[in-house]
Amino acid sequence: MVNFLESKRLTDSLKTHARLSTFWLHWVDERLRQAMPGRCAFCLATGCRRHPWCEDCFASLPWNLPACPRCGEPQPGQLRARRCGHCLKSPPAFDRTRVPLRYAEEVVALLQRFKFRASPRAGTVLLELLLAGLPAATRDWPEALVAVPLHPRRARERGFDQAQWLGRRLARRLERPLIPAERLRNTPSQRDLPRAGRFTNLRRAFRVPSCLPARVVLLDDVMTTGATLDALADACRKAGAEEIEAWAISRTPRDAL
Ligand SMILES: [Zn+2]
Ligand SMILES: [Zn+2]
Repeated sequence: MVNFLESKRLTDSLKTHARLSTFWLHWVDERLRQAMPGRCAFCLATGCRRHPWCEDCFASLPWNLPACPRCGEPQPGQLRARRCGHCLKSPPAFDRTRVPLRYAEEVVALLQRFKFRASPRAGTVLLELLLAGLPAATRDWPEALVAVPLHPRRARERGFDQAQWLGRRLARRLERPLIPAERLRNTPSQRDLPRAGRFTNLRRAFRVPSCLPARVVLLDDVMTTGATLDALADACRKAGAEEIEAWAISRTPRDAL
């Protein structure tokens, strides 16, 4: 009996110790990744001066190629990108999509650090990845940017608005104005809705109170079906935009929905 209790106590204490060590290692790793300029954000290799990543990690990221040029939906294989079935049947209100990465592997970890822990280091790396994934001429194309707004109540609850954070920094980098849009309804979360439901859920959800120039870029961190950006594009057309591109950092594949 004594032996049994003793061995149980020992096992429990080893388990706690293992949990604490894992937590500790994870915490140290996290702090290192956040606080080390000049190191690769993915593998911590040194000597990364121009970008916050090393060449090997950059090459092995899940690039969104090929993808539907209209809605950015990932396509299988190495063939040239073509319009997907959804866009042939009912095209979205924006004209093109530029989403350089797929929602997978290291990109997910980085996006979660940015979104749920408001990590500025993760946000900066994501913004740099977006810029690195854009063709050079594309950066000069927009006359204004519009970031997907959260409803004010949701923004207060969350305390951090990742699309606006990205929008402000991108606007400074591209030297273009960031025009505010309003979310009129606090729409239920899109996460549990099927594809068609997502589009209905967001109908007339946005308004852009000022006049927009002709060429406008919409910005979000992650693009799923494109329903949010479609609804925002609709509001931008009503405010005067003639040609609209949707930009985001990463795109979820269709089979993830
Ligand atoms: Zn690396
Ligand atoms: Zn498409």
